[in-house]
Amino acid sequence: LFITFEGGDGAGKTTILNQIYEELTARGIEVIKTREPGGIPISEEIRDIIHNPLHLEMEERTEALLYAAARRQHLVEKVFPALEAGKIVLCDRFVDSSLVYQGYARGIGVDEVYAINKFVIQDCMPDVTLYFDIPPRKGLERITANSDREKNRLDLETLEFHEKVYQGYQLIRSRFSERFQTVDADRPLETVYQDVFKRITALLNK
Ligand code: C5P
Ligand code: MG
Repeated sequence: LFITFEGGDGAGKTTILNQIYEELTARGIEVIKTREPGGIPISEEIRDIIHNPLHLEMEERTEALLYAAARRQHLVEKVFPALEAGKIVLCDRFVDSSLVYQGYARGIGVDEVYAINKFVIQDCMPDVTLYFDIPPRKGLERITANSDREKNRLDLETLEFHEKVYQGYQLIRSRFSERFQTVDADRPLETVYQDVFKRITALLNK
């Protein structure tokens, strides 16, 4: 069972994913948690290149290819083996982030970015994608308030960019409506957690 967490920045994906992981593990369920870009050494190094605040000259197709390369190695080394072993995989962002951020918000085109990613994923799409829905302005407020958060180049983006990301998610969500579930992330974290936990237990009992 391959479950991805998607949504704009500051929606609470990472926090909730960690809590779900702890709870499932405590119940003896075979589950792994991971993130994109990253999750394994090569991909974490690629993440550092992409997010390096000094690389302001990074061109958008270069960025899209680096995300795709990080994704490929992460799938091969970590996600495919875990799925083959029958484990639940919880992944913080996946291909939809590329479609939204690089394809839509950066303007490369969703189909163009999807094309390079088909080469990468070879039909391995998530079974379920939990979309954390939060107004971009609120997400940004949360990011600013959270001093523990890892800083990156994208933090320099404007509210306008994040509004575009939000629009992009609406588009991708309707395109892949069969695997998308929308979670209202504009609620206290504990409420969001309970909601997500219920959804995941429902999937496990299917
Ligand atoms: O959610 P997380 O903190 O891991 O994301 C790191 C940064 O990378 C975020 O600012 C996110 O907007 C950006 N990102 C992106 N394109 C992707 C994945 C993440 O621009 N495909
Ligand atoms: Mg996060």
